[in-house]
Amino acid sequence: MQFIDLKTQQERIRPQIDAAIQRVLEHGRYIMGPEVFELEKVLAEFVGVEHCVSCSSGTDALLLPLMAYDLGSTDAVFTTPFTFFATPEAIALAGGVPVFVDIDPDTYNMNSVKLLETIEAVESEGRLTPRGVVPVDLFGVPADYDEIIPIAKEHGLFVLTDSAQSFGAEYKGRRMPGLGDVGATSFFPAKPLGCYGDGGAIFTNDSELAGTMRSMRVHGQGEDKYNNVHIGLNGRLDTLQAAILLEKMKIYPEEIDLRQKVARMYIERLGAIASLSRIPNIPDDCRSVFAQFCIESDRRTVIQAALEAADIPSPIYYAKPMHKLDAMQGVAYSDPAGFPVAEGASERIFALPFHPYLSENDIDRIVEVIADCG
Ligand SMILES: *Cc1c(COP(=O)(O)O)cnc(C)c1O
Repeated sequence: MQFIDLKTQQERIRPQIDAAIQRVLEHGRYIMGPEVFELEKVLAEFVGVEHCVSCSSGTDALLLPLMAYDLGSTDAVFTTPFTFFATPEAIALAGGVPVFVDIDPDTYNMNSVKLLETIEAVESEGRLTPRGVVPVDLFGVPADYDEIIPIAKEHGLFVLTDSAQSFGAEYKGRRMPGLGDVGATSFFPAKPLGCYGDGGAIFTNDSELAGTMRSMRVHGQGEDKYNNVHIGLNGRLDTLQAAILLEKMKIYPEEIDLRQKVARMYIERLGAIASLSRIPNIPDDCRSVFAQFCIESDRRTVIQAALEAADIPSPIYYAKPMHKLDAMQGVAYSDPAGFPVAEGASERIFALPFHPYLSENDIDRIVEVIADCG
């Protein structure tokens, strides 16, 4: 069984994708062709923000706003230790210091009470200057922005949402990544909305920030393209990827609905299995896009072995919290007491196959294997 089946979706819209690729081959504007700007318009409208700046990956979508914020080597940016490496990596690459804040056990997202405590601890220590917060919408569930944003504003911090896993998810009726000062998403093929290569996008209502990021994605070019005004990147989205995304966007709202259906089928069945200590529990005012469907059990080793024997993949997101990674030693600031919630989750969590086209039969088969583990 496939963990994420991209083939069924491709078969569904293959003629449209072929035609879109053909159009790009014919006009030949491979870099910043018309599809790039058309896609930015479609995405900005879908999310409900003024500006969408497309770029070459989800990592660059984090890096570009962080570069625009011009971080110094003693600037603290608060984020979570339970995420993909790109989140703290981008903060460090942009010149800042990632400062970790433990998560909420139900959503795996940043704990806002811990955020406030950590900001105050950094302020009173006086070695680092708090500058920003990068909450992560893990597994497709938006972080608790009504708690996080006021805390950030009170302390003069920017909020950049890492919405690489949550494009199109909803928080109290608002679509991600449309909250905070600026939001980043990824179109890596396995993300909820994926292209056929690397891609990403940044969303904001801040016109000045959008302008700086547009310049930075093309080597910081100025009005006169031979006068560079910033240190930037080669960070553009390919025209071909934009053309593919435009076709995928046409069915994405329907796919988000299918994701709810698949999640409901799983949750109904898994709820009865006593060996599972946690199954997804989406906050009432949120709609997840289920980038991953993760569950927890103290009997993970046994369950994963049974799943593997049945040819059902069950990868672990994330086996090691960020503060334990070699690359973060001496780079990030971590509470010496560690992050018990993130560490506990990493010992019990594993993911089940999930995509909009997963059949009820397959779900039944997966659940049966888990139930049979006792
Ligand atoms: C995938 C991911 C990224 C990076 O996106 P890429 O497009 O692979 O560069 C960043 N943050 C999180 C939470 C992710 O899941």
